[in-house]
Amino acid sequence: MSELSFAELGLDPAVLEAVSSVGYETPSPIQAQSIPALLSGNHLLGVAQTGTGKTAAFALPLLSRIDASVTDPQILVLAPTRELAIQVAEAFTTYASKFRNFHVLPIYGGQDFYPQIKGLRRGAQVIVGTPGRMLDHLRKGTLKLDSLKALVLDEADEMLRMGFIDDVEAILAKTPENCQRALFSATMPPQIKKVAQTYLRNATEVRIESETRTVERISQFVLPVYAERKLDALTRILEVEPFDASIIFVRTKAETTLLAEKLSARGHAVAPLNGDLNQRQREQTVEDLKRSKKDIIVATDVAARGLDVPRITHVINYDVPYDTEAYIHRVGRTGRAGREGKAILLVTPRERSWLRTLERATNSPMQAYELPSPVELKKMREQQFETQLLAFAEDKKLAKTMALLDEIAERNEMDMAMVAGALACWMEAAQPGSLPLEQPEALPVVSATPPPRRDRKGGRPGDNRKGPKGGFKKGPKGRGGPGPKGKPPGKGGKPSGKRPPRQADAKR
Ligand code: ADP
Ligand code: MG
Repeated sequence: MSELSFAELGLDPAVLEAVSSVGYETPSPIQAQSIPALLSGNHLLGVAQTGTGKTAAFALPLLSRIDASVTDPQILVLAPTRELAIQVAEAFTTYASKFRNFHVLPIYGGQDFYPQIKGLRRGAQVIVGTPGRMLDHLRKGTLKLDSLKALVLDEADEMLRMGFIDDVEAILAKTPENCQRALFSATMPPQIKKVAQTYLRNATEVRIESETRTVERISQFVLPVYAERKLDALTRILEVEPFDASIIFVRTKAETTLLAEKLSARGHAVAPLNGDLNQRQREQTVEDLKRSKKDIIVATDVAARGLDVPRITHVINYDVPYDTEAYIHRVGRTGRAGREGKAILLVTPRERSWLRTLERATNSPMQAYELPSPVELKKMREQQFETQLLAFAEDKKLAKTMALLDEIAERNEMDMAMVAGALACWMEAAQPGSLPLEQPEALPVVSATPPPRRDRKGGRPGDNRKGPKGGFKKGPKGRGGPGPKGKPPGKGGKPSGKRPPRQADAKR
């Protein structure tokens, strides 16, 4: 939030009064930047995501500039859908609630013309509508723009995507030359840029750093894995990744607890974070993570909302998110405070179509995550064992233990390697798995390529283009697992027998 207050921005007193009665405390960043520019009469180009407060960013200053006593259309807002048009019209009504005899009229396709024409005849200072219907009224002459002071294109990229760009341009061409214009868009595809260059010359540009952009500091990886092997995959990831702290996302509250228990049994300092915990418990868990008492948190989306712990180096999406917003929020838990972060997504074969969706949403490619092969893993474990052994060679008790073992060796005519070996076996008996003796099992390899897109109809323009974006970048070579890639499910490898029914898959 900005430091300026609404009162300092120079809004009309009636508008200001309406704002304080809605209960807004401070202007959002896009509001703080857009309001002065629009108040001074400039065109405005605003790039910002959903939920940044765009409606008030244009509605408040534009309402402040019009003559509310004139009932001709003075502000026209184009929105991509009926729902958005209604939403914006409602917001305008709220922000204009202290004006007398003021009307905001939504007009959109699918509704009878008659009530719209009636509303237009009665007069409305603000018209909010979808491009097609707006153009119909302009052509019929039921909507006249002679008194128009300002035109807003809200969610311009969405209108482009929905095929309204020609209608939008036709409307723009019909607006008075001196009319103030504002364009808001979450992204700036070339066609929108062109519209801006033609109709919004010398516009003030406002850009709000969104979470989508933050993803740039986060490297994204994906590991395709069979649902019943996700825990094994996760265990290995946690073994080989040099993380400081990690957050693991799952779908349900129950799963946070279950998975946390399993990881705890594998020796990790881990805690669940879910909505069943009370506020105090949640704060405690986050505090434990901050202070390194815990290194891993297993969380649901809701529970992790807004979590800001700079030592989180890794986000592991154990279950795929519900939507792209959730994904972006999840991965944004790492790469905090200007640091680098790593996000790893586990996808089951049926969920692989998520890859393209997420790449598009984050506007950056996903790399294939490669687990070390069993041979490499064994070597890593041996090295780790050696490192630990060497650390104990400096132990304070070394001299005493050596004296004791020397005696034993001499009495029993053993050499020192034999004594050490026997001790190591003792260690292994006390804590099975503590010695890197066996070669770990290979995880069955799942094809990384998403299945081909079936329908073309639902696709967006540009979807079927080729290139690295849509595809799937391979990670560094030479760490590939055993066996051919792209093996069909259930064949070869060592999948452990039958595949249990998969809830997450069944739902998709
Ligand atoms: P956008 O169009 O960018 O998606 P909206 O204009 O729909 O965002 O606003 C999102 C929500 O934030 C709305 O519920 C709105 O009432 C609220 N909001 C907008 N500005 C403020 C503010 N300055 N303070 C508090 N809430 C705000
Ligand atoms: Mg909006």
